[in-house]
Amino acid sequence: ELAQQLKFRDPEKARALAAALQREVDAIGRDEITIMHVCGSHEQSIARFGIRAVLPRQISLIMGPGCPVCVTDAPEIDEGVALAKQGCRVLTYGDMLKVPGTVKSLGDAQADGGKVDIVYGVEQALEIARAHPDEEVVFFSSGFETTAVATAAAILRGLPKNLSVLSAHKYVPPAMEIVAGMPGSKVEAFLAAGHAAIITGCDCFRPMAQKYRMPIVVTGFEPLDVLAAILKTVEMIRHGEHDVANCYPRCVTGPGNLPAQKMLWQVFEPVGGQWRGIAVIPDGNLRLKAEFAAVDARRRFDIDVRSLWDYAPPKLAERCICGEIMAGFKSPKDCALFGKECLPESPVGACMVSSEGTCKIWHQYGGVP
Ligand code: SF4
Repeated sequence: ELAQQLKFRDPEKARALAAALQREVDAIGRDEITIMHVCGSHEQSIARFGIRAVLPRQISLIMGPGCPVCVTDAPEIDEGVALAKQGCRVLTYGDMLKVPGTVKSLGDAQADGGKVDIVYGVEQALEIARAHPDEEVVFFSSGFETTAVATAAAILRGLPKNLSVLSAHKYVPPAMEIVAGMPGSKVEAFLAAGHAAIITGCDCFRPMAQKYRMPIVVTGFEPLDVLAAILKTVEMIRHGEHDVANCYPRCVTGPGNLPAQKMLWQVFEPVGGQWRGIAVIPDGNLRLKAEFAAVDARRRFDIDVRSLWDYAPPKLAERCICGEIMAGFKSPKDCALFGKECLPESPVGACMVSSEGTCKIWHQYGGVP
């Protein structure tokens, strides 16, 4: 595996790609070319390997709504907090613990004595539910379509009677469309996340590429994957190609993983909903279909979120600009709270909480450039 990784981190090849990229950019002859990626793992790779430092100065490479934790809206957190207050054992991924709800986070609920446990995946949720047969256990399931497939598979196999699912799963392609169509958006092309495309395939992006007249390039997470994809994107911009390109053919196919897609759409339906700070995204939230009502926490419980309103919402949160960052209009350097009032250990907004959040990644890899 190491040899495979090193193959995609070859400095000579990276330099050659950067040089080819500069030639393409010069041939376009514009001062600014804006490319958005939509994946926290891409941002980690870009920051960790210093990829922005080798890009031509004309390329603005920005991160969009690519962190499922960051876009989980406060009312969704409120539901988990309320369920913990109502006595359920709530299971969540660790990144979600500190994400602010309207008044409290799941971490606050835990500190108040609520039963909130961290899990690494749905399999662990099954184990915990079996270990506590006398309790109502709720899995706060979050993540994009890749993780949603794992939740769907577990539901189809059958959950323990005391386990239900509070779905905060999101579906990325509709969010890309909203960002692409926002008035004033400078986004000219997308890099799409290779791991999500393993499930969805890359063909699903073609209608969007044609509708918004932009290239969409699917790619992986090693430095050469990212550089090759940016080069391909710029070539497509230069030639006016409004299509999809697959720069991750070792993992991604055109149609994707059809059995996984079947499981996903058997269990979930896309519904409109707010993505934190960005917009209401039509079809952006994945919710359990009616036939799975018995394991849907929203239908199984009367979730009393009004019981949380005794607390005043934190004021600093009003100054968080996560939404504008994820829509591609601003970067963490535009936020007055970055690295001051807002730190990974005391996050004000969701982008500073998750390891896939732009603010957290920028803070981890050296702060604002
Ligand atoms: Fe929000 Fe903190 Fe990022 Fe500012 S630095 S945008 S407050 S998460």
